[in-house]
Amino acid sequence: MRLIFFGPPGAGKGTQAKRLIAELDIPQISTGDILRQHRRAGTPLGVEAQGYMDNGKLVPDDLIIAMVGERLAEDDAGVGYILDGFPRTVPQAVALDGLLKQRGQSIDRVLVLRVPDTNIIARVVGRRVCKSCGNAHHVEFNPPKVDGVCDLDGGELYQRADDTEAKVRVRLDEYTHNTAPVAAYYEQRGIVREIAGVGLIDDVFGRLKGALG
Ligand code: AMP
Repeated sequence: MRLIFFGPPGAGKGTQAKRLIAELDIPQISTGDILRQHRRAGTPLGVEAQGYMDNGKLVPDDLIIAMVGERLAEDDAGVGYILDGFPRTVPQAVALDGLLKQRGQSIDRVLVLRVPDTNIIARVVGRRVCKSCGNAHHVEFNPPKVDGVCDLDGGELYQRADDTEAKVRVRLDEYTHNTAPVAAYYEQRGIVREIAGVGLIDDVFGRLKGALG
């Protein structure tokens, strides 16, 4: 299965993807996670992406497309994947089509998580992310069992520099202007399913699996 998880920042894409990969045994490919790894490793890509990410802006398409091209060529992506946070612009979606076409593949489903803007700020500002596995907790809505420690792998939880109210507003603006049109791009193919992303994580997961059939 090749899936795209789509939705604004804080919609729960990463959280739901982590649950689904455990059941489907396919990798979660999060461009945000890969970029943060590059930054930690101090690669040229990480250095170049830093300013955009810290300001809540999108990293330029050419950098992202090259990075995803490399990731999709890895062995584990052969059986399928969940794309989380990509494509985020129409040119990225067009480039993904090109990469898939070379392999005679296509996207099976685009799952759109709908969350009202009013919920987004509280979700993102209270988010605490695992340094090692990228899993997200929330101080109020999904607290870890042990303070500051990821439930999944025991990694250290931290607050992302772009998870502040001011940065989330910029990111939401980027979403509205550059990312939302990507859903329309896939709409014509009849593969888009919309899911209410509010409520308990388990309930959202149930709806998501229902949408996958
Ligand atoms: P995320 O972890 O998905 O919230 O992404 C964090 C940041 O990484 C975004 O605000 C962007 O600066 C950058 N980023 C992640 N994925 C993409 C993408 N597909 N296109 C452009 N920038 C991206």
